Amino acid sequence: MKDFDKDYAFATLQIEKTVESMPSKLLIRESGFDKNLNKSSLSDTGKLKKIYKLQQELSDKIAPNTHCQKGCSHCCHYNVDILDIEAELISQTYGIQIKNPATLFEPQPTGNQRGNANFHGQVCGFLKDNQCSIYQARPFMCRKLASFMPDEHWCHSDINEEIDMPHIAFSEINLAYARLIEHHETRDIRQWFEQPAQINPTTQKAVDQIPVIEIH
Ligand code: SF4
Repeated sequence: MKDFDKDYAFATLQIEKTVESMPSKLLIRESGFDKNLNKSSLSDTGKLKKIYKLQQELSDKIAPNTHCQKGCSHCCHYNVDILDIEAELISQTYGIQIKNPATLFEPQPTGNQRGNANFHGQVCGFLKDNQCSIYQARPFMCRKLASFMPDEHWCHSDINEEIDMPHIAFSEINLAYARLIEHHETRDIRQWFEQPAQINPTTQKAVDQIPVIEIH
C-alpha cells in the first residue's frame, strides 16, 4: 500500500537538501537570468538555446536527489506544450517534418493553440524503447520535469493528475520561457509532428550546431 503523505514528506526533504546543495554561483546566475536574457540582442531561438543550456546545468545538480532515471517514461504520457521555435529546433536537429510547415511562415495567433485537446495519458510519439529519441532537442517542458517522490508510482499518468507533488521551480528561467510564450504559437508536441514520428538518424545534428533561424 502506497503512503502518499510519507512520500510527500520525503520529497519535501529531498527538495530542501537539493536547494542547500546548489552552487551559489549557479543560483545567482539563475536569479539574474531573465533580466539579462531580456536585454540581449539574441533571436528568440538563440534565447531558447540559452534557456536549455541553463536548465541542463540546473537539472544536472538536481538529478542526484530525484527518482528520475533512464527507462522511466511516465512523464512522456502527459500533455507536452511546446513553442513553434522548439518544434523547428526538433525538426532541424532530427530532419523530421513538422505537420504543416507552411503555417509556420504565415502570421499565426500567439499563445496556446492546443485548445481543449487533452493528450494526458497518451504516449509522446518520440518515445522509443522507453527512451526519448529526440533527447538533444527535447523541449523545455521535458527538460525541467523532475520527481522527488521516492516511488515512480506517483508519476503514472492515471495517478499524477489527482495529486499535487512537491517540485522545484526556478522562477527566472521560467519567466524567460514565459516571455517567449507571449509571442509564439504553442501546441502539444503531438500536434506539431506525425505520431509516431519518423527520425532519420543520419540527419541528426547537435542543437548547438544548428544556425539560429528566425521563423517570424
Ligand atoms: S519529447 Fe522526449 S522526453 Fe519529451 S515527452 Fe516526448 S519522448 Fe518524452
